[in-house]
Amino acid sequence: MSRPRIVIVGAGFAGYRTAQTLSRLARGRADITLLNPTDYFLYLPLLPQVAAGILEPRRVTVSLSGTLPHVKLVLGESDRIDLDARQVHYTGPEGEAGTLDYNRLVLAAGSVNKLLPIPGVAEHAHGFRGLPEALYLRDHVTRQVELATASDDPKRCAARCTFVVVGAGYTGTEVAAHGQLFTDAQVDRHPMRTGMRPRWLLLDIADRVLPELDERLSRTADTVLRERGVDVRMGTSVKEATHDGVLLTDGEFVDTHTLVWCVGVRPDPLAESLGLPLERGRLLVDPHLRVPGRPEVFACGDAAAVPDLEKPGSYTPMTAQHAWRQGKVCAHNIAASFGDGRRRAYRHKDMGFVVDLGGVKAAANPLGVNLSGVAAGAVTRGYHLAAMPGNRVRVAADWFLDAVLPRQAVQLGLVRSWSVPLDTASPELARVPAGGRPAVTPPPGQPAPGPDVAPGPVRRTDRPTEGDS
Ligand SMILES: Cc1cc2nc3c(=O)[nH]c(=O)nc-3n(C[C@H](O)[C@H](O)[C@H](O)COP(=O)(O)OP(=O)(O)OC[C@H]3O[C@@H](n4cnc5c(N)ncnc54)[C@H](O)[C@@H]3O)c2cc1C
Repeated sequence: MSRPRIVIVGAGFAGYRTAQTLSRLARGRADITLLNPTDYFLYLPLLPQVAAGILEPRRVTVSLSGTLPHVKLVLGESDRIDLDARQVHYTGPEGEAGTLDYNRLVLAAGSVNKLLPIPGVAEHAHGFRGLPEALYLRDHVTRQVELATASDDPKRCAARCTFVVVGAGYTGTEVAAHGQLFTDAQVDRHPMRTGMRPRWLLLDIADRVLPELDERLSRTADTVLRERGVDVRMGTSVKEATHDGVLLTDGEFVDTHTLVWCVGVRPDPLAESLGLPLERGRLLVDPHLRVPGRPEVFACGDAAAVPDLEKPGSYTPMTAQHAWRQGKVCAHNIAASFGDGRRRAYRHKDMGFVVDLGGVKAAANPLGVNLSGVAAGAVTRGYHLAAMPGNRVRVAADWFLDAVLPRQAVQLGLVRSWSVPLDTASPELARVPAGGRPAVTPPPGQPAPGPDVAPGPVRRTDRPTEGDS
């Protein structure tokens, strides 16, 4: 047989670990190709720190070609997979089409923002799933505080200084916790901002923050958020979003120009497009991460419904920890399918969870030991440094600088509201005009994209949305 060709779609936690482990196991005896729209692995758990200006964006990325030298990186997004012909079709960053043949396929395309049919949300909210969204939020929040400072109208000033986060899972909780610190720092010690009090609201229909985690973590996070001044409203969500604010399910209308949508994620639509059995949009696999009836196809991470052997009848949750460990098992099982080693089922032990709440605070339960305050903060940061596959020194350096210097509150304005719509299948990429011509009509007051804007892979039709406010 000629050299085995293994194609991995997606270079997130699951895909990166599969490629890394396979590369070690194969020792040059197989062609391993990684298809991903970006040339980096994104360490998503630190994204709230990018939005809060603690970490510069490149810190949370790890170069794929720099850290996986024996893996061929193909830049692009798969738009169709022909399972019978064993071919992955993709579109590259400059619009070019390509095809990859495989003997083994790993689907690790992750997840995208989850939408709910609530009027106005698709138009006025922004998700928090990718680097462009984090950069947009950092700039947008900074701009709101600056515009509020210049406003003579107290009502408009209050609206600009009100930030609504929907979804109190780990993402929304971290965004609100860091956000309050970030905006407080912007108004503190600024004579023209005396009396301004930025207000962050955290909403969820659940009855507690971090509803999916241990109750003790919830209590810690709840206490920190409230002490910090975050308006935590459980059992409450958004009924309607408008240009001027949001109508809550309890009937209150909140004037705001910021709605951050952290209600969760859904599997990448690529999973659904395959016509294979699904479980809530995730590709059903067996405990060996194989797609039933397709022995050459494996799936792992958020895009796969992996049976949870510790909790029979359920599937492993969408977390980085599972995706990372599944990637390793997936690589071993692919090697075993070529006769190298024995295949194994995916089993896991609960190692606990860490939630960074900004400053020196966190909520963590490593190995079941509940921690709060500074101890949790230290464990959380140590955990992230250990878990990142690269760039650790730069991250640690940014943390050090943030501890000793005031945070930089400047907005570069490089990512505009219309380029990070909530309804997108590619949160990792900011929208750009297709073919050099603006497919998007920027909203009033925003400059039209210039002709020198590079074309990029735009999988869905661009739609204009309400502009930055
Ligand atoms: C802000 C945030 C904070 C989080 N914090 C934590 C945390 O603290 N702890 C934790 O355990 N989990 C956390 N998570 C969840 C965790 O990040 C995910 O569960 C994890 O990333 C899933 O890994 P994955 O490999 O399945 O998907 P991803 O890491 O999302 O990677 C998917 C990759 O596939 C690529 N891709 C998508 N579609 C295509 C396509 N059509 N063709 C080619 N490539 C494609 C994407 O660009 C991406 O690179 C967080 C998530 C977010 C958004």
